[in-house]
Amino acid sequence: MIIVMKPHALKKELRAVIDKIKDLGYKPHTIYGETRNVIGAIGDERGKFVLQSLETLSGVEKVVPILTPYKLASKEFKKDKTEIPISKDIVVGGKEIIVIAGPCSIEGQKMLSQTARFVKQAGAKILRGGAFKPRTSPYSFQGLERKGLKYLAKARDLSGMPVVTEVMNPGDVQLVADHADILQVGARNVQNFTLLKKLGKIKKPILLKRGMMTTINEFIMSAEYIISEGNSRVILCERGIRTFEDATRNTLDVSAVPVLRERTHLPVIVDPSHATGYAQYVKAMSFASVAAGCDGLMIEVHPSPEKALSDGPQSLDFPSFAALMREIVPFASAAGRTIATRQ
Ligand code: PEP
Ligand code: MN
Repeated sequence: MIIVMKPHALKKELRAVIDKIKDLGYKPHTIYGETRNVIGAIGDERGKFVLQSLETLSGVEKVVPILTPYKLASKEFKKDKTEIPISKDIVVGGKEIIVIAGPCSIEGQKMLSQTARFVKQAGAKILRGGAFKPRTSPYSFQGLERKGLKYLAKARDLSGMPVVTEVMNPGDVQLVADHADILQVGARNVQNFTLLKKLGKIKKPILLKRGMMTTINEFIMSAEYIISEGNSRVILCERGIRTFEDATRNTLDVSAVPVLRERTHLPVIVDPSHATGYAQYVKAMSFASVAAGCDGLMIEVHPSPEKALSDGPQSLDFPSFAALMREIVPFASAAGRTIATRQ
């Protein structure tokens, strides 16, 4: 249920409503607005008639049910788009389209720092790189793990770019949070509820990837797991889903962008690298995603894709990434957005 306070309701009236929500056994989540505050009361749906009685408290304008299965992630709960500040001048979900770029896997300090320098110059704002890699085969490169995290933190210091990396194991959440600015949940872990709950308890933004078989509603429910534990800084990432089509690694669900935009207030980014699996399609799908209204892109870039230890075929080399960043500008403008270009 959403408890909408009257404009200019007193602080003590808000406090009283919050206390009452807790007394009734619900979790209050308050959004402080410019003119009025709203409180989401989250808990057992069967008590909605009890919550309706909050309408009699002073300062309360109305109590309305949230009809979607997800509550805190829904547009009903929060009308305004959520903006997630990553650093002093980087915001995901604002007017600027934020590009996240870097190698699939961190393979060493030199290649990572070299990639960071290049993608930053081309206009990328956030550096990506996997240290814990979810590979289909146990015989494939599994990532440099702790050593990779150290290289990533060093690359952040050298380049001044915030960094994002995947956390696979709930037991590694603190370790990864100590080294990264954003924690990524990979497609394969989108319904690892233990991991999601743990990420709801930390203070860093989460980049949540859609699973290859998750519906849009299931995807938003996963975000709800994180938000309901207290962390509302969730960035959704469409990265392609499994279909019968095998010409590409996955099928990019471009329509997920406007659908998510309609259903949630969370920022939505697109990963055209994992969606297509082939470097030659990444540019076109980046353009399409920007035209569809995404807030950012996550793109795999490698100094020598032919030598990459993972996802080489879908990784852009430096000149291709620079070309993408140049050519995407008119698409961003047409969508009413800005995008950083070569520095
Ligand atoms: C990744 O971004 O490194 C990755 C493994 O992607 P996904 O989880 O979408 O497959
Ligand atoms: Mn990859």
